[in-house]
Amino acid sequence: MKKYGAGTTAVQGGYRPSNGEPRQVPIVQSTTFKFDTGEAMGRLFDLEDSGYFYSRLQNPTCDTVAAKICELEGGSAAMLTSSGQAANLLAIFNIANAGDHIVSSSSIYGGTFNLFAVTMKKMGIDFTFVDPDASAEEIKAAFKENTKALFGETIANPALTVLDFEKFASVAHDMGVPLIIDNTFATPINCRPIEWGADIVVHSTTKYMDGHGAAVGGAIVDAGKFDWMAHKDKFPGLTTPDESYHGITYAEKFGKEGAFITKATAQLMRDFGCVQSPMNAYYLNLGLESLHVRMPRHCENGQRVAEYLSRHPKIRSVTYCGLPEDKYHKLAMKYLPNGSCGVVSFRINGGKKAAEEFMSHLKLAAIETHVADARTCVLHPASTTHRQLSDAELEAAGIYPDLIRFSCGIEDSEDLIADIAQALEAVEIESI
Ligand SMILES: *Cc1c(COP(=O)(O)O)cnc(C)c1O
Repeated sequence: MKKYGAGTTAVQGGYRPSNGEPRQVPIVQSTTFKFDTGEAMGRLFDLEDSGYFYSRLQNPTCDTVAAKICELEGGSAAMLTSSGQAANLLAIFNIANAGDHIVSSSSIYGGTFNLFAVTMKKMGIDFTFVDPDASAEEIKAAFKENTKALFGETIANPALTVLDFEKFASVAHDMGVPLIIDNTFATPINCRPIEWGADIVVHSTTKYMDGHGAAVGGAIVDAGKFDWMAHKDKFPGLTTPDESYHGITYAEKFGKEGAFITKATAQLMRDFGCVQSPMNAYYLNLGLESLHVRMPRHCENGQRVAEYLSRHPKIRSVTYCGLPEDKYHKLAMKYLPNGSCGVVSFRINGGKKAAEEFMSHLKLAAIETHVADARTCVLHPASTTHRQLSDAELEAAGIYPDLIRFSCGIEDSEDLIADIAQALEAVEIESI
């Protein structure tokens, strides 16, 4: 198949109708599929034939949209999940069992941190969190004999750290485990982690991919490069027979390219059932069709807003890797040359009270527990997502009481800046 640019793939990838077929991706709103014989359906149950029999495992609409995301990321196979949380759960659980261990960057989304540190710990999977800026040797020191993967986020939500892919990929591969990357904030328009050594890429499609706040969803993409059979003892789920499918061995039957996603579908979707609905997959696809047009605008607005804030006397500090003085600017120039994302975080003078007051004066930017949307939205982590923590605990977690996460949409930057300007004007704090 001819390789197209990211824009063409975003519009036309995954679905190639033939003569007389619908131009738009059909919504196959059916839980089940009809067969002429039990024998024909039985072959699907045995993974001998590929096809559809029940939408908890696979659905044509979901597979079509997953195929587009797969093409965008340059992977070998992909699947949709009900949410980004489900994508991370399945990606880890597909290769780690009770008694296993994972090394993860400490700079990750709060929901993912909770999933790893609390819920997966209850399932018997232990995590060690490492500073993403630590040296390769320090990260390697966190590995144990039972470590099964290394995990990180391209641009961390909400810390906005940029991952050093080459360092992470070399550590993972030296230690004989796959590198799993959450690419939600960058999207494949701004970064393709597989080209930098990632083995598995996960997404919360709820964010930029959908982009319109319409549907919660997730995706998992396999690069198809990790050689499971070369680490046979480490990944028995992929390299030894699965008795629930008459003893097939995924890595043998489906190869490097297909084993991971086939196992995650046939075992984990079968048992957990965290599927994306065909209707949501359709909405997601509408979002994907303009992803390459929206991302540059998100980045342009993010850059302008960050520059404006960095010069404002009422603003204490701004975090945005597009600013030359940002700690991650150099890594961003290497891994995100076309832009990072539209999310900017900043600290306001006057503490928590000033942060809350500033937000209450915003007219365009809406207070929401959301991010990476076409409409600008804003969040004060200290009084919402992290409100259980004391001021001291907040500081320790890097969630300062005066920190605001500002997610630039695709409106006109002049209007967003004017909105920020009038809200800052209304906050009674001393300028320094
Ligand atoms: C939002 C988010 C998630 C979780 O996704 P949901 O779709 O809300 O379940 C995971 N990772 C990152 C980076 C996110 O921003």
